[in-house]
Amino acid sequence: MAECIFCKIVEGAIPSQKVYETEKVVAFLDINPIAFGHTLVMPKAHHETFTDVPADLLAEVARAAQGVARGVLKATGAEGFNLLMNNRRCAGQAIDHAHFHVIPRRNADGIKFQWNMKKYAEGEIEKQAEAIRAALK
Ligand code: AMP
Ligand code: ZN
Repeated sequence: MAECIFCKIVEGAIPSQKVYETEKVVAFLDINPIAFGHTLVMPKAHHETFTDVPADLLAEVARAAQGVARGVLKATGAEGFNLLMNNRRCAGQAIDHAHFHVIPRRNADGIKFQWNMKKYAEGEIEKQAEAIRAALK
């Protein structure tokens, strides 16, 4: 994709700090980290979101993300990490090349992801589950 920043990183046209690379997958440091060592793991091929990535390739990315997470924990001495992915603008995706974030975490690091929990009204959780089960058929 000509205009995609992450495709340009894959091509080497934009500099990055790559930490892991295979034929189909690459991981590099996020330039504006939530925590130092924050790493992005993604397929080299341009796919926009999680649901667009072919399953075999996604499996390779997931395997890479697990290895990268282990490496980030070891290198940073972090006590835990978030593995997350934003899909589409409404969910915070800024760059339309599917990528996982590996964010090293420490106790009392002060990082907060704002989750405003809702409550289902009576009977609604069953309806919601049924709608999703039907969609999965
Ligand atoms: P998202 O909001 O999930 O699309 O995340 C995009 C991420 O890419 C953000 O965390 C940015 O800090 C990061 N980012 C943007 N440009 C670059 C770049 N040139 N090199 C490394 N990370 C970048
Ligand atoms: Zn791309």
